[in-house]
Amino acid sequence: MPSHYVDLHCHLDLYPDFISAVQDAEQAGVYTLAVTTTPKAWPHNREVTHGTRYVRAALGLHPQLIHKRGDEISLWDQYLPEARYIGEVGIDASPRYYHSLEKQKEVFEHVLRMCAQHGKKVLSVHSVRSAKTVLDLVERCLPSSKGAVVLHWFSGSLSEARRAAEMGCYFSINSQMLSNERGRRLVATLRVDRILTETDGPFTQIEERVACPSDVGHTVQAIAELYKSPAEEIKDRIAANLKSLLAVEP
Ligand code: MN
Repeated sequence: MPSHYVDLHCHLDLYPDFISAVQDAEQAGVYTLAVTTTPKAWPHNREVTHGTRYVRAALGLHPQLIHKRGDEISLWDQYLPEARYIGEVGIDASPRYYHSLEKQKEVFEHVLRMCAQHGKKVLSVHSVRSAKTVLDLVERCLPSSKGAVVLHWFSGSLSEARRAAEMGCYFSINSQMLSNERGRRLVATLRVDRILTETDGPFTQIEERVACPSDVGHTVQAIAELYKSPAEEIKDRIAANLKSLLAVEP
C-alpha cells in the first residue's frame, strides 16, 4: 500500500479559506497537523477537523504571543483534556520577543508539566534561538515516556540536535530549512528514524506562492537528495516515523 505524506506543522486556520485548506489536505491524503496560535482558536479548529481522516487539530499558545496573551494559558488548561495534539508551543528568544522570555519559559514549563500529568500528548515545539532552554525544560518536565516532542523548524546546533535525538525528540523539516547550507548540514546529520516533514504554511513559500500540505513532496524530494536515498523510501520512512511518534504511551 502506498504511504501518505506528512505535514506535521501547518497553520490551516491562517489561510484565507480555512475550510477549503482542510478539504485540500483531505483530498490530497496528507496527514496534517493543524496547529493553532491561541487556545481561543481551539473550538473552531476542533469542529472543522471533526470527522476528517487526515487532518488533526492541535491546541496551542504561540510563544510570540505570550507577551499579549499569556493569560490565555488558563483557557489552554481548560481545553487540554480534549486535545491529543499540542502546538504551537515553545520558546522564541529572538530579539523581537526577548522581552517576554521569562514569561515564555514559565508558560512552556507549565505546558510541559500539564502534558506530563495528562500523558500521551504529541507536541509541536518552536525553539527559535532557544534550543538549549527548550531541551533543558523538556528533559526536566516531560520525560519521553509521558509525551512525544517534535521540534518544528529546528535551528539549533549539531550537538543540540544530537542531544534532542537522544532525548527521544523528533524533527519536522520544511523546505526553507533546506534552502541554506547550515540547514542542510543539520538535516543531513539527523537520525533517519526521527525525521518528519512540515510546511509551516502559510509562513513558507514554494515556487513563489504560499506552501500548503500537498507541497511536502518537494521537501521529501530534497531530503532524499541529501540522504542519497530514493524519495519513495524517505516518504515511507517518514510515514513509519509518524506511526512510532503516535505510539507514545501514557
Ligand atoms: Mn508555526
